[in-house]
Amino acid sequence: MARYAFVYNVERCNGCFSCFLACKDEFTGNCHRPTGAATAEGINLLKVNEVEYGTGSKVKVDYVHSICQQCANPACMAKYPDQVYKRADGIVIIDPEKAKGNKNLVNACPYGAIVWNEEAQLPQKCTMCAHMLDAGEKVTRCSECCPNQAVIFGDLEDPNSDISKYVAEYADELEQLHPEYGTGPAHYYRRLPKPFICGEVVCADTDACCAGAKVTCTCIECGKVIETVTDFLGDFEVRGLPTNKFFKVKIEAEGYKTAELEVRTMAAVNLGEIFLDKA
Ligand code: SF4
Ligand code: SF4
Repeated sequence: MARYAFVYNVERCNGCFSCFLACKDEFTGNCHRPTGAATAEGINLLKVNEVEYGTGSKVKVDYVHSICQQCANPACMAKYPDQVYKRADGIVIIDPEKAKGNKNLVNACPYGAIVWNEEAQLPQKCTMCAHMLDAGEKVTRCSECCPNQAVIFGDLEDPNSDISKYVAEYADELEQLHPEYGTGPAHYYRRLPKPFICGEVVCADTDACCAGAKVTCTCIECGKVIETVTDFLGDFEVRGLPTNKFFKVKIEAEGYKTAELEVRTMAAVNLGEIFLDKA
């Protein structure tokens, strides 16, 4: 039996919203009973959230999908077992007949993935286009329309599926949203927004950009070391750091005194200009 899931590659998503629009096109005013009822204007089963982080000119914008995680142990089903069920292929379905009128179901999902359709008096969420899969399709509307291959959909039980190959290849880089909720989310994310440390190294004697300086970031708590070098403008950037950790940043350039700073990684740390004195 299949076990369907998505992988979202945040790095490849440019926020074109094609997937969002395809989802709306599939469900707004279109009834897909028994797996889902029609949605109404203003109801979004899939959201693409713009996440901006950093400071000054060192700002990044990523796009992160917010959607039902098709959990292995769904909190929504635990709370309302008579209104929500899980199919053998892993898709969690809110029964549009049995859940009618139950606005409280919206609060049962820790991911905030259930929306309330006031017009139809229905709690609704992503069905992974179950009606299409049941008709023999191998894609969902959101995954088939992405021009950047940022949404990978498929069957994790099939070792030859694109998603299985992707998960095997990038296993070390994949993560799931809020595993601490304990619901066993099915979907994976790659390159979620993470803190970064950046700065610009300047030769104090000439006021010129210090290209090729070695930058070493060492986590004071776990000892992890990440190295990079400054580019031709003296800029450096170390991405993908853990949140709320202390790092020592060491900057070395031939003929100059080594600079050392200590920083704490919140969303992003822009060290600005760092002047190196002549040795
Ligand atoms: S993400 Fe929320 S709505 Fe979806 S299965 Fe998990 S608990 Fe239920
Ligand atoms: S269609 Fe692809 S690139 Fe466009 S917003 Fe969706 S995931 Fe991102």
